[in-house]
Amino acid sequence: MSDLYARHKAVLPDWLALYYKDPLEITHGEGRHVWGDDGRKYLDFFGGILTTMTAHALPEVTKAVTEQAGRILHSSTLYLNRPMVELAERIAQLSGIPDARVFFTTSGTEANDTALLLATTYRRSNQILAMRNSYHGRSFSAVGITGNRGWSPTSLSPLQTLYVHGGVRTRGPFARLSDADFIAACVADLKDLLGHTRSPAALIAEPIQGVGGFTSPPDGLYAAFREVLDEHGILWIADEVQTGWGRTGDNFWGWQAHGRSGPPDILTFAKGIGNGMSIGGVVARADIMNCLDANSISTFGGTQITMAAGLANLSYLLEHDLQGNARRVGGLLIERLRAVAAQLPVVREVRGRGLMIGIELVRPGTDEAHPDAAAAVLEAARAEGLLIGKGGGHNTSVLRIAPPLTLTVAEAEEGAAILERALGSVH
Ligand code: PLP
Repeated sequence: MSDLYARHKAVLPDWLALYYKDPLEITHGEGRHVWGDDGRKYLDFFGGILTTMTAHALPEVTKAVTEQAGRILHSSTLYLNRPMVELAERIAQLSGIPDARVFFTTSGTEANDTALLLATTYRRSNQILAMRNSYHGRSFSAVGITGNRGWSPTSLSPLQTLYVHGGVRTRGPFARLSDADFIAACVADLKDLLGHTRSPAALIAEPIQGVGGFTSPPDGLYAAFREVLDEHGILWIADEVQTGWGRTGDNFWGWQAHGRSGPPDILTFAKGIGNGMSIGGVVARADIMNCLDANSISTFGGTQITMAAGLANLSYLLEHDLQGNARRVGGLLIERLRAVAAQLPVVREVRGRGLMIGIELVRPGTDEAHPDAAAAVLEAARAEGLLIGKGGGHNTSVLRIAPPLTLTVAEAEEGAAILERALGSVH
């Protein structure tokens, strides 16, 4: 056990997730690579944790942060803050939400907390609809509505949560249905649920479940849900913490895969926008956002140093069409991994969109989750210089691939070759 690991164990919580039998300290990064305290260079196929959206140590972001740090780090939202206004303008416009207002937080959890506060206040209801197997964060209310109960056996949340079918395509009673039948079954389930509840405030859903193993419903599910929700005045909160900013290639936001549903009433974001700086936030129609009483602040939300990073990062993403890169390079990577998987009974499915790719492992010949194999693949990939992620809670048998969106074709091929060997070493 390294000295730092021993000190980590002595002072940090046991439940703090830490990868690898011999945990790695990352000392620095550049582009799609990071370096470890072992002196080795690693290709980062998890982008921090979907946080390094463009690239490690992107010069444009470093410059913006350094210049801002030389002026002021933080002055609080009690004063006008130019970078915050500018980033809000850009996100409001990109969100597709009409008459949008943006509130900045410091994490995805806090963004979802705010969305729940807005929805329950606006609708005067403490009932929330959430998807099975979902993950929305680590606070009392966010973990309370999270469908994947891997984090906490109890939910003492003051919110009453009702869980809806549909977030996971591969498990559950509707698993083997066609797309249209799957959607019809989930909608029927939602209607049935609404037939014997009071009126919930909102449905919160990740367009593609992130921690849940990069699982997604067929395109159009949320459009079909939306019709039912609209009949009851129930709001739709799209949790885009993992799916935003073009990562899925085909679309800028995950909700756009659901076509005619239109934008959500409330959208939450975090992770990639700051390229590692802690930015989260909520976008909502003005009437929803403004339903709270005046004079609320988030002490560190929208702080100048993070906003400067967000602006530079977003500009780089848009100017270099990284969504298009995610579509092209991600498409090649998915194709390559599917070809590998076809030879390996331990792989149940390679799924995903753009640079958000899941590889689900099972005990060969069964449908049984195989977390040991996933852990072994993580170690084998690391041994060859590749860092990947895996699902959380009850989804640790799914490998997760989500590199920075600047990934090149050569790097995708290098990573795929390592994954091929790593996957081939487990049974
Ligand atoms: N929502 C989703 C979909 C997430 O994946 C996460 C984190 O993984 C969160 C919310 C919580 O975000 P944070 O860890 O920044 O609080």
